[in-house]
Amino acid sequence: MVSPIDSTLRAVARHGLILEVTCDRCGHQALFDPGWLSQKMNPLTDIKRVPFRCQCGSKTIKVTAYPDDWLRRQREAEKEIRRQKSD
Ligand SMILES: [Zn+2]
Repeated sequence: MVSPIDSTLRAVARHGLILEVTCDRCGHQALFDPGWLSQKMNPLTDIKRVPFRCQCGSKTIKVTAYPDDWLRRQREAEKEIRRQKSD
């Protein structure tokens, strides 16, 4: 996990990070591009203060910033693990 000191949308986008949002209630996860979000709202909004809302209606969510390539590798690793388990 990466914790940039400046965690505004603009700063996070500049670091090439991607936001992983996890719902505390149902565990639903979604990814957001901070660059896209910063066009929709004030780019100086802290990522923890972006008013995300889950499909289940919960607003209690956890936001984590990851490097884009790290997340992709992580997903590939998970896929690989699943593939090995199903063999
Ligand atoms: Zn939810």
